[in-house]
Amino acid sequence: MGKVIIIGLDGATFDLITPWVDEGKLPCLGSLMKNGVWGKLRSVIPSMSGPAWVSFMTGKNPGKHGILGFMTYADQGEEQAELISSLRVKDETLWQVLSSHGKRVGVMNVPVTYPPQKVNGFLISGFMTPPSATVFTYPEELKQSIPDYRIGIRQGWQGEDGRASIRKLKDELIVREYHDIAERRTAAAVQLMSQWNPDFFMVVFKGTDEMQHFFWGREDILLEYYRKIDKSIDRILAHSGKDSNVVIISDHGFGPATTRLFSTNAWLKQAGLLKSKRDLKSSLIRTASHLAWDLNRRTRLRKRLPAGRVAAVRKAVRQGLAWKKTKAYGRTPLGIVAVNINLRGREPQGIVEPGQEFEELREEVIKRLRSLKDPQTGERVMAEVYRNNEMYWGPNLNKVPDIIGIPNPRYYVDASLFTRSIFADWSSRQRGQHYAQVNGILIASGPDIKPGDKIEGARLIDIAPTVLHMMGLPVPQDMDGRVLDELFKEESEPAQKAVEYGEVNHERKRVRDRVARLKISGEI
Ligand SMILES: [Zn+2]
Repeated sequence: MGKVIIIGLDGATFDLITPWVDEGKLPCLGSLMKNGVWGKLRSVIPSMSGPAWVSFMTGKNPGKHGILGFMTYADQGEEQAELISSLRVKDETLWQVLSSHGKRVGVMNVPVTYPPQKVNGFLISGFMTPPSATVFTYPEELKQSIPDYRIGIRQGWQGEDGRASIRKLKDELIVREYHDIAERRTAAAVQLMSQWNPDFFMVVFKGTDEMQHFFWGREDILLEYYRKIDKSIDRILAHSGKDSNVVIISDHGFGPATTRLFSTNAWLKQAGLLKSKRDLKSSLIRTASHLAWDLNRRTRLRKRLPAGRVAAVRKAVRQGLAWKKTKAYGRTPLGIVAVNINLRGREPQGIVEPGQEFEELREEVIKRLRSLKDPQTGERVMAEVYRNNEMYWGPNLNKVPDIIGIPNPRYYVDASLFTRSIFADWSSRQRGQHYAQVNGILIASGPDIKPGDKIEGARLIDIAPTVLHMMGLPVPQDMDGRVLDELFKEESEPAQKAVEYGEVNHERKRVRDRVARLKISGEI
């Protein structure tokens, strides 16, 4: 069985790629598409890098791995301001499975891989690596061999907070930064591939996503960057040898920035499902929040508050809710509608009975959301609305909001409780966004892949099982994705060989079990 190379282009979309490929402007991607199989790759919901890349690396839906955003959820409906990290990913990752089968892996810049975990090979952590991190490689001393390497636009951390500060930079400086990071990453990739000669190699370019947030609509700037990445892919593949199968993926799609705001909680309030406290203190907090929020929205001067302050403000507003009269509330903005029913036994002050009352209320809210129209434009606000158990399953289902709604791409969903009106005009500081853009990209090419074909219905969670099968290994039974066998040439080994489903083989589980045994026997 041959080697596999995955190149992740965060947020890359065929909406940009296909026309440029047709015009011959992206020769490497164009030839991979022409000689391979390509099609849309459905992300998870919410379609953002945190949950999406974790779903990719585990082959599991968010109901199993429990990562729903960039912050963790507490179990009790209250938000918990803690950033996600690799320590939160309890399920085995693709590279851990490969490592346990003795395959040598090289993993670079995949989001949510900090702190770097032990693999049979090397790993360099990516997006969500804190700025203060000194250890971001496994093995630790690897970083000495790549002294020029940079993770993101500021040393290390380049999340939402990082963007606020670089926003002040001139366009040309931002562009130069991203080209520079891509150049260093490509050089490091090529160098490490020849030094380590991994069976599985993966690198993610986060710049496609971030450049599109900054410059969506600026074709010149984006094309220049995509051409840079196209050349990078060409250089990386030149080092991979002819026996490698190549898979190019993105974690979600992209589109223009939102222009209208929809406030879940203002809407629930009008529907009589959410009530605020009436006492003076709560009213004052609410009025102050409304004023601050309105001012910020109008002037676009909203200052980024530190996470602690944000949590404190949110808590104050939450305390202003009359929980004993509230049946449903909107949860932390994930860019989508996320509603929880105030369920007795689960929520601290739940009033809705489990069972029939809960289900009926949930159906009612879903029905209302589906038919909801923006009075100003007459258009439907929601593209898709689901019960959580229609789309997710697994032990972390209780962390997923009861109702999930993907808005039409024009709508920014707010659940902050700071908004007075249900709808408002909205102007984002970003030019491009992906709150509702679930379609990423998949391009596969190589000795085992059909030439010149298209694929439909592929999902991000299918990639890990597909790669394992391509490398001749069994797929752990608890992965949710399926092997995309329609990618393979008829006479190829992966097509000839039946998919094998393996035991859930966790070294960590074995270690845990051994520790438990030793404890039971009194040895530790
Ligand atoms: Zn993004």
